[in-house]
Amino acid sequence: QQAMEQEGKTILQHLQEQGYEAYFVGGCVRDKVLGRSIKDFDIATSALPEQVMASFPRIVPTGLQHGTVTVIMKHGAYEVTTFRAESQYEDHRRPQEVTYISSLTQDLRRRDFTINAMAMNQDGEIFDPFGGREDLAAGLLRCVGEAEERFGEDALRMLRCLRFASVYGLEVESQTWQALLRQAPLLRHVAMERVRSELQSMLAGPAPAQALRLLLASRLWQHFKRQLSLPFEMWLAQPAALDAVGALEEHRTRWALLLLLLEMPTDVVRSALQELTFSRADTDAVAGVLALYEQLARQLLPDAAAAPADLEPRQLSRLWKVAAVAHGLQPARDLLQVLRVLLPSYDAAQAASDSVLARFMHDAASLLAEHGSTWLEEMPCSTLKELAVNGSDLVQALDRPAGPWIGQMLYWLLEQVALGELLNDRTSLLLAIAEADPKLYS
Ligand code: ATP
Ligand code: MG
Repeated sequence: QQAMEQEGKTILQHLQEQGYEAYFVGGCVRDKVLGRSIKDFDIATSALPEQVMASFPRIVPTGLQHGTVTVIMKHGAYEVTTFRAESQYEDHRRPQEVTYISSLTQDLRRRDFTINAMAMNQDGEIFDPFGGREDLAAGLLRCVGEAEERFGEDALRMLRCLRFASVYGLEVESQTWQALLRQAPLLRHVAMERVRSELQSMLAGPAPAQALRLLLASRLWQHFKRQLSLPFEMWLAQPAALDAVGALEEHRTRWALLLLLLEMPTDVVRSALQELTFSRADTDAVAGVLALYEQLARQLLPDAAAAPADLEPRQLSRLWKVAAVAHGLQPARDLLQVLRVLLPSYDAAQAASDSVLARFMHDAASLLAEHGSTWLEEMPCSTLKELAVNGSDLVQALDRPAGPWIGQMLYWLLEQVALGELLNDRTSLLLAIAEADPKLYS
């Protein structure tokens, strides 16, 4: 980071030597003021993009329509953007076209929040015309200028507001918050990809529970372009469980925990993730955890009204292994992590409620948290690929025409091996096949 800052300063200097103004701007100045680690050093300059391109040997024209040129140096890449104004906002989104200007202050004025509207020169002097430092010191997140107007220009700023407030532990200044509440319906103009990306950043931050509280308090989620039919209010009823999400490292386990708390069927959650434009892989990873939990809960608590039966570890280990084979080792490991961080927030009183999750936490979760990983490690194999026989072996051994029975039989063998009932070698498996009751696979 030191090297990058130094290199960034060389860029500032080089532009200045040619008679242009140049400053670090935006997130890097904010993080510098806070003494935080800096991701990337963005630069603003009075030089036009062509002039920037002519000044450095290695450049990539990454965003010419916005006046941005990326300068490639030894230690990193630097976005150099010409001072600009954003005048014509269309449909409550930032414009495609921009106007170049010559004033740093005017460039800072178009930025979203005071803490993001500071600049720094190569001597480390800070230019802060909108009081960003003061707001940071007071722990406030405030729009530059008239908040209602700023959210009206670009509705995405409302989600950015929740993100910066939660990630930096700031309180949203009251005028800004009031404006956000009024402008919330404009969020319908924002593409779901951008909504998802902001949500992901919020939830990846140090205070995901706070981000969700802000999301609920502002009711922004009700104004997403695509409706998500999930009962998000349920989070508010489980504050301790909601707070537990911050203890998880991985994005997918954070999402899995949060969605688990909503106690909705996996396919409903899956559709919501699709509406949110989650990638196929992310959707599968999160839904896999929920599906595995759903299978266990259905088997362990078949009757919602019945008193929980005494749970035998041996019985649970079998259900667990079968479920892990069905849904995969990664979802199983993820579920264990989720259960471990959730456990302290559930108590016996909740188990008496009609929440399936609360009863699951009470009956099965601590056994799983304790033994679940060992049970997974005990399994000699967990996927069809690892099985010592394949489909054509079955066709040969039984002399039957190929058909859906092959998949069923392989899967049955896999379960038996995973449970330790059969050895995973060709001879034992072929013997088991010959002796197996055809009902198992027809
Ligand atoms: P991060 O650490 O998340 O990258 P950042 O402040 O660098 O935070 P970016 O999205 O990278 O955020 O944007 C860089 C700068 O551009 C911001 O600091 C802000 O000044 C300005 N900016 C970005 N998006 C907007 C927007 N939607 N409206 C107004 N200004 C914006
Ligand atoms: Mg940035």
